[in-house]
Amino acid sequence: MQAPKTNWAEVEARYYMRTFSRLPVVFERGEGCYVYDDAGKAYLDMVGGIAVNILGHAHPVLVEAITKQAQKIIHTSSLYYSEPQCELAEWLITRSPADRIFFANSGAEANEGAIKLARKYGRTQRNGAYEVITLDHSFHGRTLATLAATGQPKYHEPFLPMPDGFKSVPFNDFEAMRKAVSAKTAAIMLECIQGESGIHILDREYLHAVRKLCDDNNILLMCDEIQCGLGRTGTFYGFQQFGIEPDVITLAKGLAGGLPIGAFLAKEHCAVLTPGDHGSTMGGNPVCCAAGVAAMTYLEEQNLMGNAARMGQALKDELSNLKETLPGITEVRGLGLMVAFDTADPIAPDIVKKGLDKGIVLNATGPNTVRLVPPLIVSHGEVEKAVGLIADTFKAVS
Ligand SMILES: *Cc1c(COP(=O)(O)O)cnc(C)c1O
Repeated sequence: MQAPKTNWAEVEARYYMRTFSRLPVVFERGEGCYVYDDAGKAYLDMVGGIAVNILGHAHPVLVEAITKQAQKIIHTSSLYYSEPQCELAEWLITRSPADRIFFANSGAEANEGAIKLARKYGRTQRNGAYEVITLDHSFHGRTLATLAATGQPKYHEPFLPMPDGFKSVPFNDFEAMRKAVSAKTAAIMLECIQGESGIHILDREYLHAVRKLCDDNNILLMCDEIQCGLGRTGTFYGFQQFGIEPDVITLAKGLAGGLPIGAFLAKEHCAVLTPGDHGSTMGGNPVCCAAGVAAMTYLEEQNLMGNAARMGQALKDELSNLKETLPGITEVRGLGLMVAFDTADPIAPDIVKKGLDKGIVLNATGPNTVRLVPPLIVSHGEVEKAVGLIADTFKAVS
């Protein structure tokens, strides 16, 4: 006889802060691009833990790296040198336009550190400038400073007043950006492809104009690559798609293939932090960094960036074909494996729920937008299957 299953929803209702509206499913294990619930039902995973599981689930390379490191040493703190951390630092810096790195535990922490760097840069190199300009509908994290940087007032409202020194301007509007820049501006922080707000891509000309504006005014350009970086768009960094180079880069999500990690990278001229300025007890933990080295090495050796470009295009093309037959889909957009489609009616959350019945994991970024950020190992057969399941799901809810 089997033991009765824990009713997780009931446990949550009794003990948890009410911060998430979770879907009624328990994923117990995964393999490749599939996850399985506690009844053994399979689901094609087109979310990948929100752009985190870049090698899919239970990848042997990742499992082995984590196991080996856990058997050696799990945690030491940042007081000492760590072999996997040094290895990951070297791997990342030798493949980026930046010169120096700091390791944290999450995306919000990576951005928080970048904001501190911008403030010290402004204080020491730009007459006390401290303001960070961001874009409307951006997403930079949930700590107070990164929330203030996030250009979505609905997230600010319960926590007002926001920390001072942040301002957001309309997306792709260079005049608005130019007007917003002042003697107080230390940095501009942006996502070249906004993820959390539903996959919105900045114009190439806009990004080049912003880069020049920063150069002309000694302002730092900081690219939040937490979602669009790490090969997802077809190049290692999202900004490479547009031919610009930022001064500061932030990473997290997929960097360790599913373990918690974050990092910010800066060019030498703005790597202004000195001993005592910043720190983290667990940032760049040995197990997370060993996973990071394994994930990054595999990504490069297997050319998962090339796969992301090809599969992303295939996904976008197949969804565009579907749009021709289903007028309820109003737009398909994306770059590499950051893809979204809009619906005429506010049914995106229903599509996500019904998708689970049909055996596909999808994500809604709003009432009218479904987002797909699958593992970078996704195959052509899986892309075709996903679009078939989306078609079935769409028909079932509309
Ligand atoms: C997810 C995300 C963050 C926040 O990362 P956390 O690890 O959840 O703190 C910041 N910026 C972007 C672009 C993201 O997609």
